Amino acid sequence: MTLSCQGIGINTSREVAIGDAYLLQQGIPEVNHREITEDLIQVEIERFENALHVTTSHLRSVREQIPADTASDISEFIDTHLLMLEDYAISQATINLIRDNLYSAEWALQVRRDELARVFDEMDDPYLRTRKDDVDHVVGQVQFVLAGGQPEQRGDLHGRVVVARDLTPAETIMMKNQGVTAFVTEFGGPLSHTAILARSLGIPAIIGIHQATSLFRQGELLVVDGAQGVVLANPTMRILEHYRQRIEARRSREEELRRHVDLPAMTTDGEQIYLHANIELPEDIGITLNNRADGVGLFRTEFLYMNRSTPPTEEEQLEAYLSAVRGLNGIPITIRTLDLGVDKTTGSISESGCMSAINPALGLRAIRLCLKEPELFIPQLRAILRASAEGPVRLMIPMLSGIQELKQVIRMIDRTKDELSEQGVPFDSEIPVGGMIEVPAAALAADSFARHLDFLSIGTNDLIQYTLAVDRMDEEVNFLFDPLHPAVLYLIQRTINAAGRAGIPVSMCGEMAGEPRYTRLLIGMGLRELSMQPSALLETRALIRQSNLSELQQRTKTFFNELEETGESQLFDTLFD
Ligand code: PEP
Ligand code: MG
Repeated sequence: MTLSCQGIGINTSREVAIGDAYLLQQGIPEVNHREITEDLIQVEIERFENALHVTTSHLRSVREQIPADTASDISEFIDTHLLMLEDYAISQATINLIRDNLYSAEWALQVRRDELARVFDEMDDPYLRTRKDDVDHVVGQVQFVLAGGQPEQRGDLHGRVVVARDLTPAETIMMKNQGVTAFVTEFGGPLSHTAILARSLGIPAIIGIHQATSLFRQGELLVVDGAQGVVLANPTMRILEHYRQRIEARRSREEELRRHVDLPAMTTDGEQIYLHANIELPEDIGITLNNRADGVGLFRTEFLYMNRSTPPTEEEQLEAYLSAVRGLNGIPITIRTLDLGVDKTTGSISESGCMSAINPALGLRAIRLCLKEPELFIPQLRAILRASAEGPVRLMIPMLSGIQELKQVIRMIDRTKDELSEQGVPFDSEIPVGGMIEVPAAALAADSFARHLDFLSIGTNDLIQYTLAVDRMDEEVNFLFDPLHPAVLYLIQRTINAAGRAGIPVSMCGEMAGEPRYTRLLIGMGLRELSMQPSALLETRALIRQSNLSELQQRTKTFFNELEETGESQLFDTLFD
């Protein structure tokens, strides 16, 4: 019988995928206090050593299967775990607990894990504190084997639908490299960075299916319907046929859209709209060029900082930025400074700085973290400035909330420029510096921000989260995440108007910009630059080419009048569909 489960589809491209389920083993199984008799000490030690051995061989084989063109930090992530498995603090210390305290292997390892976690918790250095997660990963894998599990081979993921409780952005990248066809998770919001990443990697994903890991069975056939947010397990032949046809129709639609790829995104009355791409890794340049973006409107640099214990050096960053700048061959790129925060931390550096906060989304995130830790920020500023010597680069600051903060950033940028000049290092002295408007305070004070900046970019993912007090990662309140809420639209309009008054460009780079449903309204509101996941470029271009600007402006006016009168956006579908 077919089982149908409803979740939240996160793919703008409305993709469908079909594949066998791969249930991802995650977390540490529950372990209880258990003691053994003396005659079992040797047996227990051997059991533990065997589990270490199985886990090590598994990780080594995983490491060997990483494709050569994968970011090097992903291999480093696995190397770190291999080193930990060999470390005395885990291996010998656990064996001592088995021998001296007569603990079972599982309990000894758990006690050791707790001891190590306490040590890491007390560390002042935020980088070192993040090692606690690595310990948990490693211990989790050994406990899984002790509980009788068999770690699966990485190659098994090809063409499969991964079903997990949750995925970190780092895991998402790794799995994409392994040829995963779709993701299904129990937790996470559609605006979490993992969801954004899956979307930009072009992988269909459904989130928020409660207990997905117990509902689906290992290896059973799943259909993932990104448009409906539905997963169908064990589909009948008729259902399968229906979905195969949809995959085929999607393919033809893409071919059709691709025929117009070289035409400008111009309305029927001649207004040019500039379509930019959001990228996470330099490897995304390929699809960006393929879909003829006018530029990269957002390079989320934090993905360079993930899965590693130390931040990338200035030279490493320079290499990544240059590879993007050179790959784009004269097309402008907007590099955003580090935005580590609550949902971009797992497996990354600086985790504890963000995660130990009482409310991490309102805590030491993005530019706040960078200003507090100049040793993190300055190398990045230097690398971005140096990359600007080789092509059109814009520098963008995330999560600004106050003018003093902005002035502090500008002073740091100026000092870094002075240093580079003194050292005779080339850079673009006129590099445009822009700010993201993603905090309501910044939108309300957009006129002041616009006076100090060369461009603005509206980050609706955070702007909506902070305006409506809806955690973008929490699927329980996701239904309240509403881009059409009047308060959100007023803030967007205010920002567009402020940029206009200051005579500087304004774009939008939140997910709203890549959602075809909103394209016409945004243009009617005055946006002329939209930045989106590269896979959305073709559809958006087609939509713009069928739209008439003066008509859209008229409809926008009607829509705003209605909004003001009723406080509701009920006319939206009638006016813009
Ligand atoms: C946003 O908040 O809209 C945005 C583009 O930034 P991020 O999603 O990386 O937080
Ligand atoms: Mg943001």
